[in-house]
Amino acid sequence: MASIFSRIVAGEIPSWKVAEDENYYAFLDINPLAEGHTLVIPKKEVDYIFDLDDETYAGLWQFAARVAKAVRAAVPCKRVGVAVLGMEVPHAHIHLVPLQTEGDMDFRKEKKQLSPERFAAIATAISEAFNQ
Ligand code: 5GP
Repeated sequence: MASIFSRIVAGEIPSWKVAEDENYYAFLDINPLAEGHTLVIPKKEVDYIFDLDDETYAGLWQFAARVAKAVRAAVPCKRVGVAVLGMEVPHAHIHLVPLQTEGDMDFRKEKKQLSPERFAAIATAISEAFNQ
């Protein structure tokens, strides 16, 4: 069965997309640690990031770097933190989290509750920065 992220790429499940190309897709995490928390995935469905073929793996990080620049341009933050967990969804993904303090990267803390309008506004701002 396709992963939930493959179903997002296919448009079967909605997402707040921030960037896409032929091989990669970036969208807002539904349970964000901070406003602008973004997930970057390869469209190719592989569970564990370190099992990706070399080309897809390198391309994923290059795409994530471009997305991170857009996140930083659109969301006030000191840095964009990076994490790879994969404890919940078996489809390789990189978390990009706008940081004010290192505590913002604590995945055990309570997630932000954002309205659909707020998610949409953040996604639009990141997407516009990405496409500039
Ligand atoms: P991980 O697998 O890295 O431990 O966590 C998966 C992340 O994906 C979590 O931060 C969770 O909030 C996010 N996530 C899980 N399902 C969905 C979904 O259907 N849509 C979106 N946008 N994010 C999801």
